[in-house]
Amino acid sequence: MSKGILIVVSAPAGCGKDTILEQALKANDNLFYSVSATSRAMRPGETDGVSYFFKTREQFEEMIKNGELLEYTEYVGNYYGTPKKAVTDMLEAGKDVILKIEIEGAANVKKMFPDCTMVFILPPSFAELDRRLHKRGTETDDVIKQRLETARKELKFAENYDYLVTNAALEDAVADFLAVVRAEKCRRGNRPGVIEGLLAE
Ligand code: 5GP
Repeated sequence: MSKGILIVVSAPAGCGKDTILEQALKANDNLFYSVSATSRAMRPGETDGVSYFFKTREQFEEMIKNGELLEYTEYVGNYYGTPKKAVTDMLEAGKDVILKIEIEGAANVKKMFPDCTMVFILPPSFAELDRRLHKRGTETDDVIKQRLETARKELKFAENYDYLVTNAALEDAVADFLAVVRAEKCRRGNRPGVIEGLLAE
């Protein structure tokens, strides 16, 4: 059986990456979402082991020490990291693995897995991102301003990614993301032995 492909997804806050990935995971059952570990506090609506594996800083540092993480970073004062074993087991089992991680972690994964597929999710415009962040109603104007500034900085890194998916209309963004996965599955490099197999008939 072919190994699965590794798909790295990054996006500034408010671009709708969680919803896009939720829907993509429902539509394609060969996709596996890698649940990260984090030392940040659980938010309302989150579940341990589903949204993240919630850890104390000490527990997280233990995971680092034991080499349990594929990559990790400190982002706005909290640790975030990708548990190694689930990812490598799933890839071996032929599952296509999604890592939803920020730009620094993404760059580190690219170094370790040069063949991974890098997808960046974009807002249709900054005006729209501003509108969406206000609509959520969860942050003050100051925090929203900060988030928009961070988004601008993060966007500069989008040029290191293979694919750009713009989230103007959700269903189109989901379709685009699934199309990227499908195209990548057809990539010759991701189909080792197929030609030889046919010729051996
Ligand atoms: P949040 O706290 O909003 O859930 O996530 C903050 C940022 O951390 C997001 O950009 C998210 O993609 C990123 N992130 C989540 N898990 C990981 C991880 O395992 N590694 C890295 N490098 N970033 C992560």
